[in-house]
Amino acid sequence: MSTLFTKIINREIPANIVYETEKVIAFKDINPVAPIHILVVPKKEIPTLNDIKDEDAEYIMEMYKAIRVITKDLKIAEDGYRVITNCNTNGGQEVYHLHFHILGGEKIGLMRIKK
Ligand code: AMP
Repeated sequence: MSTLFTKIINREIPANIVYETEKVIAFKDINPVAPIHILVVPKKEIPTLNDIKDEDAEYIMEMYKAIRVITKDLKIAEDGYRVITNCNTNGGQEVYHLHFHILGGEKIGLMRIKK
């Protein structure tokens, strides 16, 4: 059973994709909490931050590269932005496929992603 985000990667579910490489995809969050809200997702089903293995290093590096490129393209790099990963129940994680939230386009308040 593939994750929601794997379905987006495989084009089984539509998404507004803003960036894609062999190892990473990024798309607009369906329920944005800031003017710019992008999800950066590895093309490997790593469920949570707790599950990252040494062998996943290239995926994680590619995710940070995606953040650098996307924030520059969207012209929010200089003003700044926030990157968040929720982990498990207390972190408020809903989709169990590792992802970074990029939030920007305005000054982001404290605990912006709290559910
Ligand atoms: P998290 O709570 O950290 O697991 O974040 C999951 C995020 O996925 C939430 O911010 C949702 O709004 C977002 N989301 C859920 N379904 C979709 C979808 N089909 N396309 C884009 N974003 C989605």
